[in-house]
Amino acid sequence: MKNKAIWKNRIKEQRIIQDFEQLETDILIIGGGIAGLSVAYFLQNTKQNIILIDKGDIAAGVTSKTTAKITYLQETIYQDLEKSFGIEVAKKYFDSQKEAISLIKDIISRNNIDCDFCQTSSIIFTVMNSGINKIKKEKKILEDWNVSVLDVQHNKIKTGFKVEDTYTFDPLKYLSAMYDCFKDKIGVYCNTIAKNIRFENQKYYIETNKGVIISNKVVVCCHYPFFLYPTFVPLKTYIKREYVNASKVIEHENYMAINVDQVLHSIRFYHDYLIYGSNKQRLTSKINYEKSYEQSKKDFRKYFGLKPEYTWMNQDVMSNDQLPFIGEVKDNLYLATAFNAWGMTNGTIAGKVITDLIVNKSSVYKDLFDPKRMSLPLILESVVGSFRYLKVYAQSLWKKNNPTYIKIEGILYGVYIDNEDKRHIVRLLCPHMKCNLVFNREEKTWDCPCHGSRFDLDGHVIEGPATYDITKCNH
Ligand SMILES: Cc1cc2nc3c(=O)[nH]c(=O)nc-3n(C[C@H](O)[C@H](O)[C@H](O)COP(=O)(O)OP(=O)(O)OC[C@H]3O[C@@H](n4cnc5c(N)ncnc54)[C@H](O)[C@@H]3O)c2cc1C
Repeated sequence: MKNKAIWKNRIKEQRIIQDFEQLETDILIIGGGIAGLSVAYFLQNTKQNIILIDKGDIAAGVTSKTTAKITYLQETIYQDLEKSFGIEVAKKYFDSQKEAISLIKDIISRNNIDCDFCQTSSIIFTVMNSGINKIKKEKKILEDWNVSVLDVQHNKIKTGFKVEDTYTFDPLKYLSAMYDCFKDKIGVYCNTIAKNIRFENQKYYIETNKGVIISNKVVVCCHYPFFLYPTFVPLKTYIKREYVNASKVIEHENYMAINVDQVLHSIRFYHDYLIYGSNKQRLTSKINYEKSYEQSKKDFRKYFGLKPEYTWMNQDVMSNDQLPFIGEVKDNLYLATAFNAWGMTNGTIAGKVITDLIVNKSSVYKDLFDPKRMSLPLILESVVGSFRYLKVYAQSLWKKNNPTYIKIEGILYGVYIDNEDKRHIVRLLCPHMKCNLVFNREEKTWDCPCHGSRFDLDGHVIEGPATYDITKCNH
């Protein structure tokens, strides 16, 4: 069994920039996942000087571990948006997802991209009686918008329906080819981490590990922004983690499916592999990550009789009001985040919206995705989340055998002893917003249950928003 995602096509040419004192550009894009690369793709012919940086390899973040369904049928999104904002907003979101699908199709056909792009019907279903009304309601909304839907019956489900104009692909083949389209026009640099940002004399100064980049415009596509002001993302979002397994099956089926119940079952096929996502949970709700991994493997065996050949975990930013944050947060500072686990469409539309805002100063989705929006319900959810975090953190400390916890001069440290009897001692405070870290026994990492940052045993940051390592103790 391989502890990694099924996608293999890494971008081979990862350009590294030498250290510099200062570098000037018109537009700096931070983050080389589907959002950042889509922005770069749409901006490539604007005759502006553009630089894209990533803290690691390009296309090696969340997008490299996605299940890559390209669909507008996203659980119960339309009835949820109708309830919160009214049917016009729900319809506008639907339009944005349909437009994103058209954009992906266009990019693929215009550039002859071979990325296993395949028309694949999308199903939503329920296995619970309580889900039946939700399915009926979602179906009715789509029918009212003239979407062609077909009922689905199966002895393992209560009810469901499908739509046909949806797709799947290999996300890394897609991103690699997209990168090839603009790599001669844009400076794309890996291993360059943005650590701080400041605004001075109408320009942004971005401090990186290689030097300072001065830019007129900055587009933040790093999944979760590394700074709080003026995005306020931690106040409006939470992190969801999901466990994924994949194995060869005898027959490839041409559908993808997701249920609308509390316990997730997400299915798609890739060549002769079945990819199954399950055990989706709010990061602050469960701390026994090892148990969640085990449960996901058990579910794979239980529902499909399969032993995982690939197994992996991934996490996404979820907005409290279910709409992404895409657009301008401050003069010439743009943000794309909180794709709510639907980043193939939302990452693509982010590229288009931000390009339209930069080039034309307007976008039809400007208000829908306004990243500056604030409201009491939006923030309240995160306040409640903070209390959940305190509970999770307290529970983590009850488990005292490897890691153990010690206090040195009043400061709490975690001590982990590895198989070679080596002690790894780190301070349990996330540099991002000072949340306490919880041990992830399965992957031997220290994880932040609030905002998703992750650190290895010696405290090196492996996943943001944190941009600094945690303090190591050499006692
Ligand atoms: C289990 C799972 C399954 C999913 N399945 C689907 C699906 O089927 N369909 C779908 O539409 N969506 C799906 N999603 C959602 C989708 O994968 C994500 O929303 C999307 O990939 C996020 O893209 P991104 O570009 O924002 O982030 P990323 O791909 O993570 O890109 C951000 C980049 O920024 C870099 N970075 C971070 N911090 C810094 C910094 N300080 N300086 C420089 N660089 C930085 C990172 O290294 C990374 O490369 C799924 C999500 C999960 C968790």
